[in-house]
Order: sequence, then C-alpha cells, then structure tokens
Amino acid sequence: MEKQEKSGHLVLVMARFQGHSTPMLQLATILHSKGFSITIVHPEFNSLNPSNHPEFTFVSIPDKIKESQLSDEDLADKLKNSLVSTEDVAGSLQSLNKNCAAPLQKCLENILHSHHHIAAVIFDALIFCAQTIVNELGIPGITLRTSSATTLLLFPVLPQLGEKELMSGIESPELQALQLQRLRALIVQNPTQAMMEVRAAFTNMIKFSSAIIVNSMEFLELEALSKVRQYFPTPIFTVGPLHKLAPAICGSLLTEDDKCISWLNKQAPKSVIYVSFGSIANIDKQELIETAWGLSNSKQPFLWVVRPGMVCGSEWIESLPNWFEESVGERGCIVKWAPQKEVLAHAAVGGFWSHCGWNSTIESICEGVPMLCRPFFGDQLLNTSYIRNVWKIGLELQNLERGNTVRTIKRLMVEMEGKDIRKRAMDLKKKAALCLMEDGSTTCSFNGLIKQISV
Ligand code: UDP
Repeated sequence: MEKQEKSGHLVLVMARFQGHSTPMLQLATILHSKGFSITIVHPEFNSLNPSNHPEFTFVSIPDKIKESQLSDEDLADKLKNSLVSTEDVAGSLQSLNKNCAAPLQKCLENILHSHHHIAAVIFDALIFCAQTIVNELGIPGITLRTSSATTLLLFPVLPQLGEKELMSGIESPELQALQLQRLRALIVQNPTQAMMEVRAAFTNMIKFSSAIIVNSMEFLELEALSKVRQYFPTPIFTVGPLHKLAPAICGSLLTEDDKCISWLNKQAPKSVIYVSFGSIANIDKQELIETAWGLSNSKQPFLWVVRPGMVCGSEWIESLPNWFEESVGERGCIVKWAPQKEVLAHAAVGGFWSHCGWNSTIESICEGVPMLCRPFFGDQLLNTSYIRNVWKIGLELQNLERGNTVRTIKRLMVEMEGKDIRKRAMDLKKKAALCLMEDGSTTCSFNGLIKQISV
C-alpha cells in the first residue's frame, strides 16, 4: 500500500457494540499508519480505553443509551428471533440517531473549528444521522458498514422490488442461493412508521455518502457487490479483512481468558470445536443444557465461550447439570471470553459452532475453519446462507434435538463430508490472503479510498 505523509484529519464516529467498535478501531489504526491524524467520536457508555491508543484523540458524546433502552442486553432481547427491521429495533435505531444528532453536530463543529479542515467523517452505518449533519457542514461523509456488502441491498433495494422483478433481478445462482425472497418477506411484512423512516434514512445515507467502506473482500460477495454497484453510484471500498491489517488492536469489551490457549496446546490437531455466539446473542437455560448435551455426546473436545449474563436468568453456567462436568472432564474448557482470533488460528481448532456474526465469519474464513451455523437474528441469517449455500464452508444446526446436534458435529468434524467442507474453507483462506497482496483487491481498494480522502 502507498505510504502517505500527514494526509489530513479524519473524524471517525463509532457505534458502541463490540462487532462495530473493533472494526472501526482497526480502520483508524490503518488510516493513521497512512499519515492521517484521527479523532474518534464515541458514545459515552462503552469500555474503550483511550490510554491504549495515545495516537488518537477521543471525544465522547452522550447517546442517552439508558433512556433509549439500547443497552446490549436490551437490544439482544429485541433482536432475538427477529430480523433487523422489527419495529422495536427500528424504534431504537431512531431514538439512538435522534439522541446523537445534536451532540454530534456540536462536536463536529468544534473539531472543524480547531482543525479548520476535516478530510472526511467516517461513520458507522448505525449512526446514519451523521450523513445529514456532514452534508450541512460541507464535509465528505463516508459510511463504514461492519456487516456484509450484501446487507446494503436489504433496506434500499429489496422492499422496492416486486416478486417478478426480484426473480429477474437476482437471476445469478449465487444470489438465488442467498434466498433473498425470504429476507424480503421478513422486511416488508407489517411495516411500521418507524421502519419506513429508518429504511428511508438508511437509503439516503447510502445515496449521499461519498463512499462506503465494507469489511469484506471482493471475491466473497462478487454478485451482490455488482448488484449494489448497479443500484448505487457511490464508490464501495472492500477493505477486509481489517483484523489482518491491524492485528495488534485489542478492542475487546470483555477481558480475554488466555487459559484456553494452554488447554488448546494439549489437544490434537483439528480436533476441537470452538463454540461462541458473539457479544450480543443470549440463550435461555434450555438452550444451554441442550448445547451441553450435544457437546458431551459428540465426544469431541470443545472450547465454549459463555459470557456472564448470556444465559437469561443466570449469572453464568450455574444451570448446567451436575453430570456435565463429570462426563466431559478435561475434554471441555469453558471460558467467559476468549481471544477469538488466536483461538481460530490455533492448530487444534477444527470447527467453529457460531452465531455467524459478520466479524466471526470473516475471522473463521481467514483461518480456514469450517463452521457450524446457529444464527439468532439479523444479518446472521444472511451470513448463514453464504456459509452453507454459497461458499459451502459449513453446515447449519437447525435444531438442538440431541441426536441431530451430535450427528451434525460429527458430519463437520470427522466425516468425509466435513473433509470436503474443510478443503473449501482452506481454499477461501488462501483467497483471503491473496486480497492482502500488493496487487490484491483489498490493497487496491485501500489505495482507492486513501486517494479519495486525500484530495
Ligand atoms: N469475540 C472475542 N471473544 C469471544 C467472542 C467473540 O474476541 O469470546 C469477538 C470476535 O472475535 C468478533 C466479535 O467478538 O470480533 C464478535 O463480532 P461478531 O460480528 O461476530 O458478532 P456480534 O458480537 O456483533 O454479534
């Protein structure tokens, strides 16, 4: 990538969720290494530690998260078993944006006053009000989408298409395999005022942004990217996998428990199934117990992340039955939070039972780890379609019936079918590495982005 000297000042507006703040920090680190000075505007309530990043200026704005009921737990409850466009989520996004708008505007005016020139404001797509504010201030606004590029089609394009148009518009086998009709049905059913407004704001954001940055790779979403580009003239820069370009960043909101690495060191190559549902999804006690049954009966070694508070009505894992520990013994390791990227890169890990959040999906692809998909809500359903139907690097665990869980784990971890899946996952890992080469798509995309914001 081209090295730049003192290329200008950038303001990055961060959303507070783990899956959003980490890619934003990674992007900030890369842009800083290219010579940009950086201010990060972040919501008041989060556990960012500015002293870990002395190279950036941090400014916090109130987002009235408590009043708008958008804590991680509340959001998880709202999202459970639904798609991102449910009334509740739309309402919460609306109030987040309503609450942020005035403080963000004031904050950007202050920064503009002290720096005189801002090369661009890069904002998380959840904070779509930023686009209107930067338009008024005459600063280029760039959206960072921390999910797949395909999600850019969901709100602005899918609801506008009739059944016929949808079929003719998505004639390619790759797009067919994503079952976009199913997603469209979920999005358009019972639209409320809040949903319509959020959709309109999201569409405007995409239309009026000077560019869209996506933590993805061209080859992963080839057809969908070409559709997005067909619908929107906005330049789209696919700059993933960001965690490989800024590997030293630890944006973890929880403390990583390293003891699982010494446990992994004792396991046979590719024998361990790693189980984690990310930073937001919650499960009930029954799901915890069924997961425990599946892991116990599969006889595979497992590393399982159970966040404190992740099991509804429990502090941690106290509702696990007594037989569980006796039955699995040293074969299992449970932690509250793992160094996930290190875990996925470990030679002992052979499969990832995942909720299929976009970051987890990209991290798994980069290490060639096949996946067992158990999506909960939102874009996790779309990511599962990619993993299972398009890239064919995983299986879906559709229910936790005990026999089914054991069979699906075996299919992935030990049977012939799993070997083919693993081979395809390894192929994707190689393709991902190529994106980062000097003439790779990510390197070219980054150079394009830097050129755009340097003028
Ligand atoms: N993660 C982690 N340790 C864990 C579980 C998750 O570091 O024990 C990280 C993971 O590497 C990923 C992020 O948390 O970067 C989760 O993001 P994702 O988009 O997969 O899911 P979300 O949390 O947004 O649902």
